[in-house]
Amino acid sequence: MNMSDIVPWPLKDVSKNMGDETSRLMIRAGITRKINAYNLLYMPLGIMAMDKLIDRILKGYGSIYEIVHDDLDDKGWKALFRLLKDEISARQMAFYAHMGTKLEVYFQEGKFAKVYIPEFLRKYIKNVTGTSAYAAINESGNKRFLYCQECGALYQPDILEIKMDLGTPQSVSDIMEVYTPGAVTIDKLCKCLDIAPQMTVKTMIYEIEKQGKKDYYAVIVRGDRTISSEKLRKYFEADSVGLADESIVGSITGSPPGFCGPVGIKAKIYADMEISYMDETVAGANKLDTHVVGCTPGRDFQVEKYLDLRCGVEGDPCPQCGASLKTVKGNIAIEGYKSAEGISRWIYSIGQLLTAIIRNEMDDNGIKWPDDLSPFDAAVEVTSPKNEMLCNEARSITERYSHEFNILYDDRDLGLKTRLSDMDLLGIPWTIIVSGSSLEKGTYELRKNGGEPVEVEKEKIAEILKLN
Ligand SMILES: [Zn+2]
Repeated sequence: MNMSDIVPWPLKDVSKNMGDETSRLMIRAGITRKINAYNLLYMPLGIMAMDKLIDRILKGYGSIYEIVHDDLDDKGWKALFRLLKDEISARQMAFYAHMGTKLEVYFQEGKFAKVYIPEFLRKYIKNVTGTSAYAAINESGNKRFLYCQECGALYQPDILEIKMDLGTPQSVSDIMEVYTPGAVTIDKLCKCLDIAPQMTVKTMIYEIEKQGKKDYYAVIVRGDRTISSEKLRKYFEADSVGLADESIVGSITGSPPGFCGPVGIKAKIYADMEISYMDETVAGANKLDTHVVGCTPGRDFQVEKYLDLRCGVEGDPCPQCGASLKTVKGNIAIEGYKSAEGISRWIYSIGQLLTAIIRNEMDDNGIKWPDDLSPFDAAVEVTSPKNEMLCNEARSITERYSHEFNILYDDRDLGLKTRLSDMDLLGIPWTIIVSGSSLEKGTYELRKNGGEPVEVEKEKIAEILKLN
């Protein structure tokens, strides 16, 4: 392959607003291209790198059947497995489909019960505790996780288990209404009364659907916390959990939007455990432009049950070791699904895995592909791109070794120094340099990524590349 087909220009640095260091390197190296603020396009080099990665993952599944993704549903996959069962019973039964940056591996229950993760990928991804998902930590990631630096556990904030003993609220002063014009959010309320959000409670009416039946409950958490719908879903064993419509909220609380509170409402109240420590809180009064202060659980409203209902935040203790958790960004890189039909599926986000590898294996000079993942085994350079004889030799080397190796001929009309540093940036392990003097002697200069060239006899080249 010719370099001019991949990136015809020198690999110039890209502007800082193209994202974090990893994203910029990937754009610079011609792996991706940004088409707008949210979307990346994979360039030929990126697609080659993804293909290599897919090959490596599929190898781990043993014999595998390729199938074109044809939007089969679970029933379709099951029928397919049944159809082929006798014919391939001695072999492992799995199929894969891949479209764009995703690889999906399907298999029947009992086979490949665990996700297959090649050894070399394990350092880039972490299991998200309590789930079948694996995440790649990456500063440009769109998801937030909580990470324990002590034991290495990674948590999804909405399912982080928060353990605490219950408190006993004490009331000192009476509950009292206060005028809070326009204070429809916790932020505005805190500004209006000049108080900290930790003194307020947030009251939300939830619609919990279970076996076709809908129930409505009030859920309260401290004002600066976020309610976890996932924890609610789990507690109620619900099929779906969502916020109730405004009209239903009105009929339960009698409140206009933004002023809901727990006092005197027509719904059972489930409170986060933290509420049991809040003696005198500030809450909505279920009345326009009004809140109550000195509102105390147990006295001013009854709590049906105290539960772990909030999302985890930075500083919460690690459930496994007690250390303080830190917020990190990342993306889900591998996720598993099981269907009632007995078909399991692992989805590998190849683009995310590729980004995680590059992020972890790069230095100031460029990408350092681990474990034979470089899209090319070697590059061929000539000392002078204007010299037709040297170029012909370079083309013939490329052709000669292309059956055995992936060779890139750097045919750009640029200075040798620029071209060599570009090959380092792409992370190509070896560069074969053709010069006039080497041709006379029957040798090539062979240069290891980032190193100095050494003279090697022509015949020895293949042997050295094989050793890599
Ligand atoms: Zn820990």
